[in-house]
Amino acid sequence: MEKTILIIKNEFNLFLEILFPSKCVGCNIHGQILCKNCINNLRQAERPTESEIFAVYDYRDPIIKKAIWKLKYYHSSQLGQKLGELLYEAFIEDITEIKMFTKGSPIYVIPVPISHDRKKNRGYNQAEIIARSFVRGCTATYSRGWTAYVAVQPLLLKTNIIYKNKNTIPQARLTNRNRRLQNIKNAFSIKNKEQIKDKIIIVIDDVTTTGGTINEIIKLLKKSGAKKVIGFAVAH
Ligand SMILES: [Zn+2]
Repeated sequence: MEKTILIIKNEFNLFLEILFPSKCVGCNIHGQILCKNCINNLRQAERPTESEIFAVYDYRDPIIKKAIWKLKYYHSSQLGQKLGELLYEAFIEDITEIKMFTKGSPIYVIPVPISHDRKKNRGYNQAEIIARSFVRGCTATYSRGWTAYVAVQPLLLKTNIIYKNKNTIPQARLTNRNRRLQNIKNAFSIKNKEQIKDKIIIVIDDVTTTGGTINEIIKLLKKSGAKKVIGFAVAH
């Protein structure tokens, strides 16, 4: 029953998005969920401290903060798609470079999971929406109302590898690095280990913090046999 209500709620939100054309989350201009002008003015992230984790924008930017908040709490899947496209565009060169090392073997893309309870309440995982759009390799080429997608193979979305075992406090709320590490300790487990052996993996999240979730998942994947793991996040 609860699940049915949730599905109806999410479907209804999607319906609203179709019925009322999008307004830019930054400047309220009609027709785009995040307009070009606002995108161009977004504050870029400084390079995160962890060498294998890369973020595009600075989380202190009010527009990016609002966009992620709306994606997280209002099921704005259009925003999630847009953020996924921006992520892809920002790292297109890195992805091309990674692909040269894969020799045709697929690159796995793993969105940071949320716990079962949280997924039940929210109905979706925001990182998965971003990751799906990222994998689709959106070119963001809109012409005559059609969206042109260029398939970027071999990128494969994997949601059956990393699971979140417990509810944790959002990492961004904890200022102390040790508390963050403690909060996330043993929060994740791995299944289907054999699938990731010698694989190149990209872990995706909406926001990354120093000593945070992505780092923990990277460690877990490497320990379990992955060849190379890097993290991409929309904001830091
Ligand atoms: Zn705008």
